[in-house]
Amino acid sequence: MFVANYLETSLLDWQGKISCVLFLSGCNFRCPWCQNRDLALGKIENSIPVESILLGTSDKKNWIDGFVITGGEPTINADLKKIASLIKSRGFLVKIDTNGSTPGLIEEMISEGLADSVAMDIKTSLQKEKYNKAAGVEVNLSNINRTIDILLKSKAEVLFRTTAVSGIVNVEDIKKIAERTKGTKYIVQKFIPHDTLDERYAKVSPFSEEDIKKMEELSYAKLF
Ligand code: SF4
Repeated sequence: MFVANYLETSLLDWQGKISCVLFLSGCNFRCPWCQNRDLALGKIENSIPVESILLGTSDKKNWIDGFVITGGEPTINADLKKIASLIKSRGFLVKIDTNGSTPGLIEEMISEGLADSVAMDIKTSLQKEKYNKAAGVEVNLSNINRTIDILLKSKAEVLFRTTAVSGIVNVEDIKKIAERTKGTKYIVQKFIPHDTLDERYAKVSPFSEEDIKKMEELSYAKLF
């Protein structure tokens, strides 16, 4: 069981928790604005043994809450369940970051106690053309919708999030996603144009502070 890279400790990747972050190479999407280009394209080999990372964290057991498994898209890695299972066997919590394209695996991992938390990126509103453009591939939207439904009913901690990329998502889209994910945590993340998969997106102007504020208000407002 191998990963492409890892971050020994992070305060940012799991809200309220101190985590170790594992990056798995490879993704089934090609979001043109992706900022993990080499990981998404699978250019970085999964070559670091998970066992050795766990060994390195054994003296930090009292203050690391869990492991975030991210990518790329971790759910396309054939070893994901084994990796999560190994981490759980050492007494840590597991969070999975996903693009939502593999509902069956996410459902299994939650029901088998291998995912305590799931963060799903919703790229834009759930319309075929828009989603395909956002993901850079032909997306099976029913899989995306199924993952959302699974997470909405889930016992796991759930977070939905959207990166506010101009030309991919707008205030109306955020409103629709907020409605679709009603009753669950949903956040809008700022897009920082840098080192993108399609270099044209590195030149995209970010949204104004005012638009971001509007989007954030919409995403928070639906919680109440
Ligand atoms: S942003 Fe898109 S292409 Fe990049 S890792 Fe995530 S799902 Fe894959």
